[in-house]
Amino acid sequence: MTTKKMKKKRSSNTDIRIQDVQEILFDAAKNVMRQAYAPYSKFRVGAALIDETGTIHVGTNVENASYGGTICAERAAICSMIAGGGRKLRAIAIVTEKGTPPCGLCRQILSEFAGPEVPVIIAGKKGVLDLYSVGELLPESFGPKNLLKHS
Ligand SMILES: [Zn+2]
Repeated sequence: MTTKKMKKKRSSNTDIRIQDVQEILFDAAKNVMRQAYAPYSKFRVGAALIDETGTIHVGTNVENASYGGTICAERAAICSMIAGGGRKLRAIAIVTEKGTPPCGLCRQILSEFAGPEVPVIIAGKKGVLDLYSVGELLPESFGPKNLLKHS
């Protein structure tokens, strides 16, 4: 895993400061990680995001005996945000035992609901390890802008 120095960043299009929400999101993600349904991989993941209204949504991974039916914690948190009426996330924290960046599918789903500047906090159970942006995790992404060009 690539490691980067933890940097203080400020989202460019919102009034949120990552240092103001980092601990709240970390704690929420770490707590929901305990609820993971991961009987096959034993790989527990918790995710917590804050949306454009300031509401925090959490998600955890939910595995299935038919492996393709598994949903990641990040996508579960985004589904919770959508169900709650949120449409844009402003920051997300992802907690695993030792800290793991999101999978490719989750990066794509994140980019649907987050601008490239949105912070992605990667943490292990003991604390925050890395801070990326959505754009760093998925550069040159395909998204709504590509489809709108053709309509
Ligand atoms: Zn994923």
